Amino acid sequence: MGRIVQKFGGTSVGSVERIQNAARRVIKEVENGNEVVVVVSAMGKTTDELVRLAGEISANPSKREMDMLLTTGEQITIALLTMALHQQGYKAQSLTGWQAGIQTENAFSNARILDIDSTRIEDLLKSGHIAVVAGFQGVITETNDIATLGRGGSDTTAVALAAALKADRCDIYTDVTGVFTTDPRVVKTARKIPSISYDEMLEMANLGAGVLHPRAVEFAKNYQISLEVRSSMSDERGTLVEEESSMEQNLMVRGLAFEGNITKITVSNMPNNINALSDLFTILASNGINVDIIIQNVMNEEKTNISFSIETSHLSETQEVLAGFQDKLGFESISYESGLAKVSIVGSGMISNHGVAAKMFKALSDQNILIKMVSTSEIKVSTVVKQEDMVKSIETLHDIFELDARVPVQNS
Ligand code: ASP
Ligand code: MG
Repeated sequence: MGRIVQKFGGTSVGSVERIQNAARRVIKEVENGNEVVVVVSAMGKTTDELVRLAGEISANPSKREMDMLLTTGEQITIALLTMALHQQGYKAQSLTGWQAGIQTENAFSNARILDIDSTRIEDLLKSGHIAVVAGFQGVITETNDIATLGRGGSDTTAVALAAALKADRCDIYTDVTGVFTTDPRVVKTARKIPSISYDEMLEMANLGAGVLHPRAVEFAKNYQISLEVRSSMSDERGTLVEEESSMEQNLMVRGLAFEGNITKITVSNMPNNINALSDLFTILASNGINVDIIIQNVMNEEKTNISFSIETSHLSETQEVLAGFQDKLGFESISYESGLAKVSIVGSGMISNHGVAAKMFKALSDQNILIKMVSTSEIKVSTVVKQEDMVKSIETLHDIFELDARVPVQNS
């Protein structure tokens, strides 16, 4: 007998019919002799709708109340799905995050899971029940307040439960048939990737591929949980996210990720002293501003220019913080460029192949696409380009790295 965690995303439980369809998938695994724990998202666009409602009452609602509000979405789904299972004659019980023993750090809106006390779920499974757990929520250990895990956090609930329950598998049911080389809505020739390593998936998720919550991938890697991302609407096999060694091959580039609405900020003529970088980024970090790519240009012995990228939605906040510390930091001026996008290539084969970045830059420059910023890791290269060049960049790179090939190209 196996133990399986199944997670159904918002679209997969977006209507009564879809909830019944999800119930059928759960029952199938039960009939195969498995113990099943189900994690669900809020139905369809419920979470967005709740965010919108809150916005009509307050421009700056309390984070505690926001989490109280948003967690109601998942609670609707657990009750309905459990009823659908009862209707088919199966024993099932719904659990909120708190009832499922999911304990989080003391932070609203984006809390991390600290621990899971799985006693109640274990008891349910032992007595032949299906446990249906609300995704995206937990309870703050110290205060007993309800906290959410950040948008898209139901994936993390599922993988964390799979780890705590020592499940054999975690299946993520979604509205696409798997992880694609890039977003198929943007590039028509994008194809499904049969398997991808944890590290590659983590880069893809962090670089803007929305199909999995990055923290879910982190968990899966740390606890070696095999994940399969697949469609709830078809029986097609999805994408396996797993350890490198068991994979077919190391591809130089396995996928492309992209993200719009990026702004590049340049802080000019800062005194070029040994603390310049640490002072600037400590101030930004302690004000909660998330900085991505950083470039430093030393002008001469006295002065330095520092550029960094942020999400455009944090622009005015960043400007305010910098203005407030202008005297302390001693820079002359700030300038910014919005309307940028980040386009990244990801592949673990890069570690052993040189010239991947060069090939990327050449392909973009051949298309007259100007690269504004670059950052790299062992298995990715990111470039910042004008947002108007974003789609063309992705298409060009998808082509040049032959990601549309039916049979993946073997790179030695
Ligand atoms: N319902 C939440 C959201 O829309 C969590 C999730 O679906 O993973 O972000
Ligand atoms: Mg999701």
